[in-house]
Amino acid sequence: MPNLPPRIRFAPSPNGRLHLGHAYSALYAANVADELGGDFLLRIEDIDVGRCRPEFLDGIYEDLKWLGLSWEKPVRRQSEHFSDYEAALKRLRELDVVYPCFATRREIERAIAESGIDVERWPRDPDGALLYPGIYKDMDAQERNRLMWEGRSFAWRLDMERAMALATNRTGGPITFTEEEGSPSGKTGIQQIAPELFGDVVIARKDVPTSYHLSVVVDDALQNITHVTRGRDLFPATFIHRLLQVLLDLPEPVYRHHRLIEDDTGRRLSKSARDKGLKDLRNAGNTPADVRKMIGI
Ligand code: GLU
Repeated sequence: MPNLPPRIRFAPSPNGRLHLGHAYSALYAANVADELGGDFLLRIEDIDVGRCRPEFLDGIYEDLKWLGLSWEKPVRRQSEHFSDYEAALKRLRELDVVYPCFATRREIERAIAESGIDVERWPRDPDGALLYPGIYKDMDAQERNRLMWEGRSFAWRLDMERAMALATNRTGGPITFTEEEGSPSGKTGIQQIAPELFGDVVIARKDVPTSYHLSVVVDDALQNITHVTRGRDLFPATFIHRLLQVLLDLPEPVYRHHRLIEDDTGRRLSKSARDKGLKDLRNAGNTPADVRKMIGI
């Protein structure tokens, strides 16, 4: 995206206190904004209304201020913009690349068990989830309407094959993105997407009318994000995001997937109680400079 002023965001979810991994990600994003002379934004990814709590939201502001960061206001909170994601979903429905999926977890497990393939050998996506076995995919329209009228809850899944066919047709060649930091295998530069690794991924959940994938691409476009910076664990998710950007006619940012912060045993940090949050480190007398030293940024 030439000519646009650089805009970089840090996008935490308020479902726990921030830890050293978040500190690294936030400081990394702010450094990129500094390096490029651009804006640094904070976005609150709280579509998971059941798991997000106000005290964690306050904690995010408190911890980031303590680290010395400041960001553009007002802060965008995803829970206040469900209609934006619904509009994008509607567009995908019009393109006929999504379908309603009524499957429960148990039905999915049963379908896999009945396939004759051992569950241990059933393919999994890059996040480790079992690939969707396709039940409810090729349903007769009447039967689908009947289930909807009955009030059965459903998610919207991307028909990966149709979506890829349509998107590839639009771009007239392989769909790619530019990785400036390095793929998990260390490669920088143009990367070709392989979203089929995720199968028919959920685009709008049963409990909320969107998903991480849908809301993140909508927001990155709405907020004119030019450089998406985030942990390397989300590198494969970028395959889905690029596909959605092509389908929804959204601009393409460049990507920097940074290293992940691990504990002494090499385990990735998480929001579990075992991992010290920034608040605990602060209360134990550490300074922001100490935190930076701990994570090497
Ligand atoms: N909300 C996501 C997370 O906390 C960040 C996603 C992103 O930066 O794209 O992992």
